[in-house]
Amino acid sequence: MGWLAVVGLGPGDAAMQTPQAADVLAAATDLVGYATYLDRVPHRPGQARHGSDNRVELDRARHALDLAAAGARVAVVSSGDPGVFAMASAVFEAIEAGPDAWRSLDVRVVPGISAVFAVAAWLGAPLGSDFCAISLSDNLKPWPLVLRRLTAVAEAGFVVALYNAASQARPWQLGAALEALRPVLPPGTPVVFASAVSRPEEAVTVTTLADADPARADMRTLVLIGTAATRRIERPDGRLWLYAPRSHPAAS
Ligand code: SAH
Repeated sequence: MGWLAVVGLGPGDAAMQTPQAADVLAAATDLVGYATYLDRVPHRPGQARHGSDNRVELDRARHALDLAAAGARVAVVSSGDPGVFAMASAVFEAIEAGPDAWRSLDVRVVPGISAVFAVAAWLGAPLGSDFCAISLSDNLKPWPLVLRRLTAVAEAGFVVALYNAASQARPWQLGAALEALRPVLPPGTPVVFASAVSRPEEAVTVTTLADADPARADMRTLVLIGTAATRRIERPDGRLWLYAPRSHPAAS
């Protein structure tokens, strides 16, 4: 009997991948995913790899479902968590629009550590209060909607994790997003550029909304926007911790 598992590989470091993900990857006959993510999975004799570029998620999901329906044990890989701006949604979209037989397939989602959690752990505890995640990519939704959501959650006091903050094809969106936040948040609000966290090229910069330079971000960067309540603890070596206090200043 075939199955399909959508597997989160975590943010990069193999130690941040769950044992459950490793077990499923080892049991699969076929691996499907963006070639860059497949490269993170150790090669196993007899296991087939179906790499693709990052733009054809639905085709990739259908291909994986076809393989599973034909009896293969298929792992579809995503970075981080597969349910966060990643392949799990594409698989369910394909199932909903696809042949009835796909609804009886054994389909599982194997969670992973999403980039925002790796970034938060690096910094301290900036998500300890209310937070949300927004993809800045306007490939799949209109840009005015991105801005509306971003300003609404910033006004409401959420810490915001911006995924897909920038890429070569989307060079101006992050600058426009930061501009939209300037009237809403104090200039000293912490802004973090966290790139390739847990990988060898890791680079993290903590700055403020007033000083944030969008050119620091690329496709490996998560941008975290704090709130007026985000606390900083300076350390003797010049680094700092960021954290969200457990209680809001207005709590009784
Ligand atoms: N499913 C993934 C997110 C995919 S969207 C997850 O849960 O993490 C791709 C975006 O994730 C990137 O543009 C970047 O914003 C973020 N990202 C992924 N890995 C990252 C890492 N190691 N460090 C910083 N940001 C990362």
